[in-house]
Amino acid sequence: MTGTTQDDYTDLYARRVRGMTTSEIRALFAVASRPEVVSLAGGSPYISALPLDAVGEMLGRLAAEHGASSLQYGIGQGTIDLRERICEVMALSGINGASPDDVVVTVGGQQAIDLLARLFLDPGDVVLAEGPSYVGALGVFQAAQAQVVHVAMDDEGLIPAALEESIAAVARSGRRAKFLYTIPTFQNPAGVTLSEERREQVLDICERAGLLVVEDDPYGMLSFEGDAPLPLRARRHDGVFYVSTFSKTFAPGLRVGWILAPHAVREKLVMMSEANVLCPSAFAQGAVTQYLTNMPWREQVKTYRELYRERRDALVTALRDLMPAGTAWTHPTGGLFVWVTLPEGLDSKAMMPRAIAARVAYVPGTGFYADGTGTGNMRLNFSYATPERLREGVRRLSGVMQQELAM
Ligand code: PMP
Repeated sequence: MTGTTQDDYTDLYARRVRGMTTSEIRALFAVASRPEVVSLAGGSPYISALPLDAVGEMLGRLAAEHGASSLQYGIGQGTIDLRERICEVMALSGINGASPDDVVVTVGGQQAIDLLARLFLDPGDVVLAEGPSYVGALGVFQAAQAQVVHVAMDDEGLIPAALEESIAAVARSGRRAKFLYTIPTFQNPAGVTLSEERREQVLDICERAGLLVVEDDPYGMLSFEGDAPLPLRARRHDGVFYVSTFSKTFAPGLRVGWILAPHAVREKLVMMSEANVLCPSAFAQGAVTQYLTNMPWREQVKTYRELYRERRDALVTALRDLMPAGTAWTHPTGGLFVWVTLPEGLDSKAMMPRAIAARVAYVPGTGFYADGTGTGNMRLNFSYATPERLREGVRRLSGVMQQELAM
């Protein structure tokens, strides 16, 4: 709906819709996708790196040879073939012994977060989340009428003492915190990773406080320097819900993700999902299953990793060479994003129209906080643009910042 369209339905909207505003990313996509704009704004994987002809042949065969099942309705939990493959994929990340029976296939990681919110959150409940956190999860929690309390991070991820403090403050205020939503590895948007030592501390703190952990791990396989630390779910079975997706290791267009849930909860998640989408796409699940079974998918993940490492290097080098003094940024060892802290006095949201006029786009930091903070930050993506375009984008951005600083 455009800003000029009158909305005659405002009196009728459900309460959960009232706080909903257009996300900054959504508004940006329209302009950022113009070819003359260097977009550092999105979060899209570099799909052109896939062997598209081979994927096309595979999809053709999936319809022609297996259409009776792949084009039919499926079951709410997802196909057993895919759930078995998912357990093998998780084992590669160190989550061993998971049963396909405890896996629920979802429409991307996004639906997984939504199902967990529907299952656990009443209006007014508190979710603890890193500050900053994934914009799509913040949208889910807002729709659930939950309150997000952000917990500070540093270069080693979530700060355990800050987590303890937040838990105590929520308890003092008489509210109920249900879970910690965390992206411990190659975090979106901050690009930082929770250290080994802190993983244990965070789990201990949550266990003591009776807080569930929702571990969102879309990027764990996209490591640039050795293997990522073991997921939280590999360290504790109880109370940890593990969410992941094939969006970043294969292709987001298929919309296939999953939840590994404690057994007792799995049935309720399936019921919620059936009420939501009936079943995840049988065709998309078939495509992922075929891909994991018959194509060199681990080689493809390696290709993504090498490509993104090169682009991370290009972006970080450009930032070092070109950014004005007083600018700081994180040094991601995997994933897709760098988090930039602007020099004192600059406002990433206010600067955005000038950046677009200079043909460069980013996401202002405010998009990643539920409470309006983040004006001094921005998220830059390095998975999509070529190294040359990344450098050109930083050059344009730096020009805009220098002008702002001179004002
Ligand atoms: N969680 C995080 C942290 C993400 O960055 C994303 C996608 N950008 C998702 C979940 C959802 O991904 P999808 O629905 O494509 O699986």
